Amino acid sequence: MDRPPQPSFTITYRELPDIFHRNIPLDPVAQPAWVARNEALATHLGIDPAWLRSDAALQALAGNAALPGATPLAMAYSGHQFGGFSPLLGDGRALLAGEWLAPDGRRYDLHLKGSGPTPFSRNGDGRATLGAMLREYIVSEAMAGLGIPTTRALAVVATGEAVYRQRKEPGAVLTRVALSHVRVGTFQYAAVKRDRNALVALAEREIARNYPEISGSDRYRLFLAAVAARQAALIAGWMSFGFIHGVMNTDNMSIAGETIDYGPCAFMDTFHPQKVFSSIDEHGRYAWDKQPGIALWNLTRFAECLLPLLAEDQDQAVEIARTELSGFMPAFERHFEDAMRAKLGITEARPHDGDFIARILTHMMNGEADFTLFFRRLTQLAAGASETPLKKLFNDDAIADALLAEWRERTGTAPGIAAMQAANPVRIARNHRVEEAIAAANAGDLAVFQRLVAALQDPFAEDPALEDLELAPLPDEVVARTFCGT
Ligand code: AMP
Ligand code: MG
Repeated sequence: MDRPPQPSFTITYRELPDIFHRNIPLDPVAQPAWVARNEALATHLGIDPAWLRSDAALQALAGNAALPGATPLAMAYSGHQFGGFSPLLGDGRALLAGEWLAPDGRRYDLHLKGSGPTPFSRNGDGRATLGAMLREYIVSEAMAGLGIPTTRALAVVATGEAVYRQRKEPGAVLTRVALSHVRVGTFQYAAVKRDRNALVALAEREIARNYPEISGSDRYRLFLAAVAARQAALIAGWMSFGFIHGVMNTDNMSIAGETIDYGPCAFMDTFHPQKVFSSIDEHGRYAWDKQPGIALWNLTRFAECLLPLLAEDQDQAVEIARTELSGFMPAFERHFEDAMRAKLGITEARPHDGDFIARILTHMMNGEADFTLFFRRLTQLAAGASETPLKKLFNDDAIADALLAEWRERTGTAPGIAAMQAANPVRIARNHRVEEAIAAANAGDLAVFQRLVAALQDPFAEDPALEDLELAPLPDEVVARTFCGT
């Protein structure tokens, strides 16, 4: 059999000052075997799917061989974890395997997660469980399907080695594709080292790579504003689908504005604004409705790093940062209200829509309605269906009636059905379905995972054959807690 031509990768990250990276020897795994390959993503990136099916790709994406043209490295970064600062985190179980120039003219990182110990592993084993890697694969593909900026999953390879967590589990390596793996924590690392040259180099790299429209003498101010603007849109997008990231530490916030580091994240079933799933988020720091405030907190840490670049004079720099960040909450609210207007079929904005949306959400909370099904049933109702299925989602008919009365008054006789259909997914990555797919995969059956991923990559399309994936969990199926699996 002819071998498909090898794609050629680079690692431009190595051009950054030495403090940002460490060379790491490969740490081969016993028995690499394919679990999942995202050939559609490969095609989208201009990577030959035939190569992705090859043994050369299997060896490279298991971390047993370098990608052609690239020598792997581990990235250094700091981070505020649950508010406490760790000056040195870094890729403890991951490596940058290569960078790929796609036909869209953008450069993408290929990052291996679970690839073995690095100088940043501290007490960790550098490995990942199959379950945690499939979880990231499913949820990140679901996010992409919903049209929200996110890292993507290119492949999962089983290692043939056991990983020990609460119990013995199969090990795996995920290949994650991202516009950048530079995080707020990477800037914090340059700042904590008090290395101005490194800081400038990092900022210039991110601007050139992910914000090429920015130039001129006030480009660091524009950079701060642009990073904040992407986060405002991102968080509003998450919230409009009931998504809770779960670990919005500064090391898990991408400068490129993509959702990154899927751990104990979840899409909620029953709506509650203070919903938290992560087993380690004891105080609800990263609850659904806290996410905009936390994003702003993280961006404030980012702005602090940039201060030396914003102005010679410290007070002046602080003033510039304050001004730029003051736009974040209004921008978030604009995006969130736009998204909610579309979900509710409101075709034109009015001054007090924020209050109206808050009242709808309060009814949903009091009525314990399923978030995704509520908007789905409302979409069907707008298109002429009966209101009974919607009312069944509520614990009290009177609450549903009150909500519908307000909604009808606001939308009148002509709700925007097309906008509702485009904003209200039929399927989300429900926790119990994700757990079901992982359990089946751990038992050697990948069909449940494959079906779920395919269904979530196209989440707005109605398909009676996938109706089981639409449904809310039964009481004994509810997954109340999610885990990082680190
Ligand atoms: P995360 O919770 O995935 O954002 O990771 C936080 C930090 O812990 C990062 O520096 C990771 O590289 C590190 N880490 C997580 N899991 C492991 C592991 N199994 N071995 C070594 N380092 C890890
Ligand atoms: Mg992380």
